[in-house]
Amino acid sequence: MKQILLCTNCKRAVSKPVQILVDGTPDNPNVSWDDECELTPSGIAFKTHLRFPAHVSPVEKAHLLEFSPMFLLRPDDLDPIVKNTEDSSRLNGCCGLDGCDGLNKKCQCGAYIGTEKSDCWTPKVFITENAATHWQNVEKTAQNDD
Ligand SMILES: [Zn+2]
Repeated sequence: MKQILLCTNCKRAVSKPVQILVDGTPDNPNVSWDDECELTPSGIAFKTHLRFPAHVSPVEKAHLLEFSPMFLLRPDDLDPIVKNTEDSSRLNGCCGLDGCDGLNKKCQCGAYIGTEKSDCWTPKVFITENAATHWQNVEKTAQNDD
């Protein structure tokens, strides 16, 4: 069953429909923590209670991403209305975004909805801000349209 991420502030869809897999279950996805690689397969989001490995989240900044559960998406599974913040202090990185300085992605309405890591020393991953987003069942909506 696929779900779509919505911005809680404006109710817009901010992701493509994705299947959410949960860690510790048999359908656990193959998560790769390799540098510059997408963390999950296309169309798959990962719900985890694990912490980010220290090598992709420096100790002094780790508290910003220490919450549970954490939903991990591919940046290319986000909707194009999701943009970088204008706050350059949150856009550090050498080849992409290191995601170490707080929320760096905004919905079209201006609400911060999550953090992208896409630097040369991190996997490519978007971490949703739970307080600003929620998931909606997609297939149910499609059936209602019939
Ligand atoms: Zn919004």
